Amino acid sequence: MSVIKPTVLVVEDEQAQREVLRYNLEAEGFRVVTAENGEEALIKVDEESPDIIVLDWMLPNLSGIEVCRQLKTRTKTRAVPVIMLSARSEEVDRVRGLETGADDYVVKPYSVIEMMARVRAQLRRTRPASVGQKLTHNNIVLDAETHKVFRGEKPLKLGPTEFRLLATFMEKPGRVWSREQLLDRVWGRDIYVDTRTVDVHIGRLRKALCQHGDSDPMRTVRGTGYSLD
Ligand code: CA
Repeated sequence: MSVIKPTVLVVEDEQAQREVLRYNLEAEGFRVVTAENGEEALIKVDEESPDIIVLDWMLPNLSGIEVCRQLKTRTKTRAVPVIMLSARSEEVDRVRGLETGADDYVVKPYSVIEMMARVRAQLRRTRPASVGQKLTHNNIVLDAETHKVFRGEKPLKLGPTEFRLLATFMEKPGRVWSREQLLDRVWGRDIYVDTRTVDVHIGRLRKALCQHGDSDPMRTVRGTGYSLD
């Protein structure tokens, strides 16, 4: 799979179900973190910044609906897709009626193949590079399947970190990323890297993007970070 490994948070109180999801999502190339209840889910969301959340409705104490509602009211987590799991289709109707903001609903028992397709569908929308999509911005083309980058017709040589940086920028052109956000997204939260490292790799990315004499598409936003314009 892609060099960009999306993180999936699985929130499920039944261990067997949790492990089935973990096994299959890892086999698809995802990084998986799990939570057994709603409270733990909210902590894991803060700690791990997942790219997508698979959330069981029936959880002890804090229900999946309540977790979803909280996530969808916070600015930081609003855009993270949530796939809600439910035991019966009538529950799904109720969940829809409650307007929790869940992005998709899956009824148990579900087929693993269908679940993986639903996860990928959500990520195609929010993290297209992580599921091997081809991204285009002006004359820059990044193919996350083959790991190739072109500017116009010319191939660009990029290191793996610069590739992940560029993919991040190309998923949301114009968005200004802080160094900390780029560290989280590109290096991962478990790794300690100095924020100046980001500047070094941005420098390399700029050089790579301009290697055939094209203009520099990267913008430094003073006191904030970087964006692709
Ligand atoms: Ca449950």
